[in-house]
Amino acid sequence: MPHLQSQQSLKLILKNYFTGFKSPLAWCTSAGPAEILRALGFDVYFPENHGALLGASRTAEKYIPRAHQEGFGGEICSYLTSDIGAWRMKETPLTKAYGLPSVPKPDLIVYNTNQCREVADWFNFFAEEFDCPVFGIYPPRHLEEIHQRDIDNVVGQFEDLILLGEKVIGNKMTDADLMETVLLSKRGSQLWGEVLNTAQTTPSPITFFDGTILMAPIVVLRGTQICVDFYQEVLEELTQLSSEKISAVAKEDVRIYWEGMPVWGRLKAFSQLFANNNAAVVASTYCNSWIFDDFDENNPLESLALAYTQIFINRGENAKLDMMKDIINNFNIDGVIFHDSKTCFNNSNNRFGLPKKLTDATGISCVTIEGDLNDMRFLSDGQIETKLETFIDQIGSKKGIY
Ligand code: SF4
Repeated sequence: MPHLQSQQSLKLILKNYFTGFKSPLAWCTSAGPAEILRALGFDVYFPENHGALLGASRTAEKYIPRAHQEGFGGEICSYLTSDIGAWRMKETPLTKAYGLPSVPKPDLIVYNTNQCREVADWFNFFAEEFDCPVFGIYPPRHLEEIHQRDIDNVVGQFEDLILLGEKVIGNKMTDADLMETVLLSKRGSQLWGEVLNTAQTTPSPITFFDGTILMAPIVVLRGTQICVDFYQEVLEELTQLSSEKISAVAKEDVRIYWEGMPVWGRLKAFSQLFANNNAAVVASTYCNSWIFDDFDENNPLESLALAYTQIFINRGENAKLDMMKDIINNFNIDGVIFHDSKTCFNNSNNRFGLPKKLTDATGISCVTIEGDLNDMRFLSDGQIETKLETFIDQIGSKKGIY
């Protein structure tokens, strides 16, 4: 990716975020109701973001075995195992990056199993460690369609969360604060969607690998003006690059859609691998998961319930297929890579026939690579390189490029 001025802004934003934590502070899952927590007056910290930092800093493998000693299995979420292992070893990459002695202490821990049950085990572990109140939201799962009764179910749970949050902070949440936070989240999310959609142009000014870095504020600062301003800045830069036909990879012959988790320990290596083979990964379900089209400040709780229940990972196979077909069409995709992430079956969508269904429906080629988000012991670099190069080559031949 060409150098972006907004990358400098991102560094500063994240520094301010991580060094600015103050009490009351809540922990929240990445697609949890951060808006409610912010409107209540909490600062919000996201353990999955910490998990990704452990992966990207390549320290996860040092900590994962420590979690195994605690009884956590070798094939469960490696965000969970690396995060708990690091906690047990009293280390965090936040020390080197921002001078923090530890992850911040929570006053309330909140998770939403819209993504997986693993977050319940993970967050309850820390609730015990900190002797902290914990609240789990359990929405209906794996839905093909969302019904009003599903929304009502989740709204009821949000209302219980608000009561608990008010008890913890000793104040009432106001409707105005919730509306304001949802409005900011909506704006941030819309802009994030527009940033990702700049990749619909050929050549694309941005790749999935850039997206995994630029996405930090839509996860950790959703519902703030800082998040809105940042994506406005990124969008302006990318629009300018697009208008000048400046592309993320030097030669974009093949356009790829990445399905599944990133491999945090290989972002740079994979980014180079695709660029060296004249391929650009221009779309992903992962980065798209933080586009929440349905946030509505005038109907805050229902719209939050809808948005957080209808995320890709919480849908049935047919709904996922339809969402993927849309992305293939909108981004002019030539091929799809399914990442079979060994410790996250929740976000590995190759296992129940989706690649074949997608090829049957669209004619687009799919390939599956085996790896993991954080545990690099599940990854064979040589095998993946060969598989991806062959896949890109085959697509290139099909397009008459090679
Ligand atoms: S969705 Fe996967 S990676 Fe994310 S917390 Fe759950 S098991 Fe871990």
